[in-house]
Amino acid sequence: MDEWNIQSRARVCCSCGQPFADGQPYHTLLFDDKPRFRRHDICELCWRKEDAAGVRNAPGFVSRWQGVYETPPQKPDQMYRETAESLLRKLIELGDTRYQPASYILAVMLERKRILKVRDQFVRDGRRVFVYEHHKSGDLFTIADPELRLDQLEHVQHQVADLLEHGLPQPQEQPHPSHTAPCVELGTPDVAQEHPPTAQESAAQTGADAVRMEPAN
Ligand SMILES: [Zn+2]
Repeated sequence: MDEWNIQSRARVCCSCGQPFADGQPYHTLLFDDKPRFRRHDICELCWRKEDAAGVRNAPGFVSRWQGVYETPPQKPDQMYRETAESLLRKLIELGDTRYQPASYILAVMLERKRILKVRDQFVRDGRRVFVYEHHKSGDLFTIADPELRLDQLEHVQHQVADLLEHGLPQPQEQPHPSHTAPCVELGTPDVAQEHPPTAQESAAQTGADAVRMEPAN
């Protein structure tokens, strides 16, 4: 199950393809196409052509609301720095479930700062899911409630504070199996680390493992 994801606001009507103009009202329909949510932004005219009851009964329908389109700025508002928002986006892109509670805490922080607002909430597979919308870009963040207990909350808050201060930990280097380490380290480490082993190398490794597993006698 995808418990959290981001979906950007469409720049054109998903039904008729007309670009949205700045300040134009639009309607968002949210569907649960498990495992992912699907966002469908349509213009006022196309919404009027829809049968509202039919939409509500459509497979996977979970929510609908109206928004006002804002033309995105040509340049980012500010120079890059790690903020609660940029961190949340990174964590969601990373998709590592260890950071799911932290993402929830960040979303709550951003809601308090009025950067995100809750558009809807519903229960999916027994868990509460919040649909947050970014007040400027209209991006949607769907985040499941991690149902933190009080004794877990403190740990997650520490994790969030640490991530905000130091950023995400750099991906760890792949540990080299001992029997290949000398070749890699004495050769060209940068190239060797960036490329997955070839079929031959893998086969050689499997062979080495097989030899190692043979009993001593
Ligand atoms: Zn349309």
